[in-house]
Amino acid sequence: AKPGATEAANQIDPKDTIFAKIVAGTIPCKKVYEDEYCLAFDDINPVAPVHVMVIPKHPVSGVGNLATEQDKKAMGHIMAKIHHIASLKGIDSYRLVVNEGVQAQQSVRWLHIHLIGGRQLAWPPG
Ligand code: ADP
Repeated sequence: AKPGATEAANQIDPKDTIFAKIVAGTIPCKKVYEDEYCLAFDDINPVAPVHVMVIPKHPVSGVGNLATEQDKKAMGHIMAKIHHIASLKGIDSYRLVVNEGVQAQQSVRWLHIHLIGGRQLAWPPG
């Protein structure tokens, strides 16, 4: 990775991101699923027929900053809910993507899992 890229991304507080406002309910979303740990909503710029953002409700900037027991519990819970969330969109085959840092083109510095499917996916990704 480019030296400094993740450090630069880490300057951004997750609480200043658009996903903080979505969790707070001050910006609307097309909700797919919600429980005490996570929120799932349709991506505003979908790359496939199904493209859902699955995010922890508690602020975490990215995979590089998962530290507390609360964060770890939430992420375990989220992974265990993914298949159900996919089923709510009518699919049982999909790809999960988590971008971490600048070089991976993470643009929203609030940890999010892209749940992508509904068409034949290619590999490798770009
Ligand atoms: P990238 O933007 O390069 O895909 P990320 O991994 O940070 O990087 O993904 C952020 C995702 O959040 C994008 O897919 C983008 O379309 C989505 N997004 C941004 N703003 C909103 C919003 N208000 N509602 C739903 N999805 C959003």
